[in-house]
Amino acid sequence: MVVTHLPVPAPTAYAPRPHHRVAVIGGGASGVLTAINLLARSTDPGLRVEVHEASGIVGRGIAYGTNDPAHLLNVRSRHMSAFPDVPSDLIDWARRTGRSDDPQAFLPRLDYATYLQDRLAQVADHRLSIRAGRVDDVVPVGGGQLEVRGGDVTSTVDSVVLAYGNQRPRPLVLDGDELPAASWHLADPWDLGALRVLPDDATIVVVGTGLTAVDTVITLLAEGPRRRVVMVSRHGRLPEAHVEQQSTAWVQPVPEGPLTADLLAAHVREQVAAAAAQGVGWRAVVDGLRAATTPLWKRLPLGERRRFLAVHAREWEVRRHRMAPEVAARIRAYEDDGRLSVLGGGVASIADRGTHAQVTVGEVPTPIVAHAVVNCTGPSTDVTRSSDPLLLALRERGLVVPDALRLGIDTLDGGEVVGESGAVVPGMYAVGPPRKGTLWESTAIPEIRAQAAAVADGVIARAALGRTALAAVPARRA
Ligand SMILES: Cc1cc2nc3c(=O)[nH]c(=O)nc-3n(C[C@H](O)[C@H](O)[C@H](O)COP(=O)(O)OP(=O)(O)OC[C@H]3O[C@@H](n4cnc5c(N)ncnc54)[C@H](O)[C@@H]3O)c2cc1C
Repeated sequence: MVVTHLPVPAPTAYAPRPHHRVAVIGGGASGVLTAINLLARSTDPGLRVEVHEASGIVGRGIAYGTNDPAHLLNVRSRHMSAFPDVPSDLIDWARRTGRSDDPQAFLPRLDYATYLQDRLAQVADHRLSIRAGRVDDVVPVGGGQLEVRGGDVTSTVDSVVLAYGNQRPRPLVLDGDELPAASWHLADPWDLGALRVLPDDATIVVVGTGLTAVDTVITLLAEGPRRRVVMVSRHGRLPEAHVEQQSTAWVQPVPEGPLTADLLAAHVREQVAAAAAQGVGWRAVVDGLRAATTPLWKRLPLGERRRFLAVHAREWEVRRHRMAPEVAARIRAYEDDGRLSVLGGGVASIADRGTHAQVTVGEVPTPIVAHAVVNCTGPSTDVTRSSDPLLLALRERGLVVPDALRLGIDTLDGGEVVGESGAVVPGMYAVGPPRKGTLWESTAIPEIRAQAAAVADGVIARAALGRTALAAVPARRA
């Protein structure tokens, strides 16, 4: 593919066209929620929404594409509605479809894909099309339009919504070298087929102790009763569990004024202590900070955001992204049975022994003979290291740039994508995980559904503007 480096072109006046075409790239939760909002919020018969999904099946993505019913949502049904203004929507759907009556339930994640598909079907009309195939490039073609290109598709549109989601984890690196491709090396933690064919008596090292690692353990040990798993990370800390909570969120504003990462951490600890003194658990404090998280993130100067990532982020993550109680109970039972060990200290060495690997962990002297090593270190966020063809092309064209912390791409509050020139790329928006650097909390449904609604409104407003008026909109910077 020849990619010509194009600066973002100055918008030019263009003649009115009968349709406003929107390409949503990615048909996971972010893409589907965007499409739902576009179709539900606009009555414009000239709107056209095309969802481009590599797998051809929308609504699943990585999170809800699992086919293991033991993989549960890590958020209760009452917070997972597709519509923030109809919080009971998922609960009602689950009840109506005979899945669950309980608003506190943690539904199987594969059911959530069906829910999203149902909700999309409900608003779908002649304006929606689903395009199977991967998009590899987006090219500004003048007249305020963008051309979306992939192996099987070329489509000229007026707006593009990047909803490409979570990237595969970065390759495991030891002593400066990437782990070799080997039969024992499972680089994609979401490839459940590769886990399932492991021998029934296998010992497996799972690198990472976050929620993806927990899923991996559940699949491995539930389906292979004689398997053993060793989970390893630097800190060796599993996510905390949700519990039945009587108290509502504990909301205490962080005082105004200059904020540092340490001050913020101290404030949270004080609130946890104050809540405890009134018999309220720390979970209510963490949940109470949810709405304030993005404004607090923005209050931190860049250096303080870096410090937060280096010093406090793990502490926050294990409390903020919690396991369903049923999942936590299973994990505890596996530990009690001796089938699961959770170790800190990180992986010290991995030696390739052909059919297996010899793994040493932290200070533990005895190496582990592992039939498989699974990379569960979490989605990679640094677009400058991505080999994804779409991201390579977008970067090369200057249409996306990494945010300063390399947690995603640079965007404005309304989801507008900021290009290499420092100006908004006209007609280009992003929803979901790519916005983590700007917003910090940008990966779970409660945040994504709000972003999808806001981006839909932005696109609809753009469609409503006359083309000439659009051409006069100055590029903005945060
Ligand atoms: C294992 C896991 C479990 C999670 N569980 C929860 C949960 O319980 N609750 C919660 O709120 N959040 C959860 N999350 C957070 C999750 O990030 C969001 O809920 C949401 O699923 C993100 O959706 P997405 O569409 O942005 O990304 P993804 O799920 O990654 O989907 C992106 C989609 O885009 C497609 N795509 C990518 N590039 C292209 C391209 N170039 N062309 C065409 N198609 C493309 C992919 O095929 C994929 O289908 C979980 C995340 C993970 C990884």
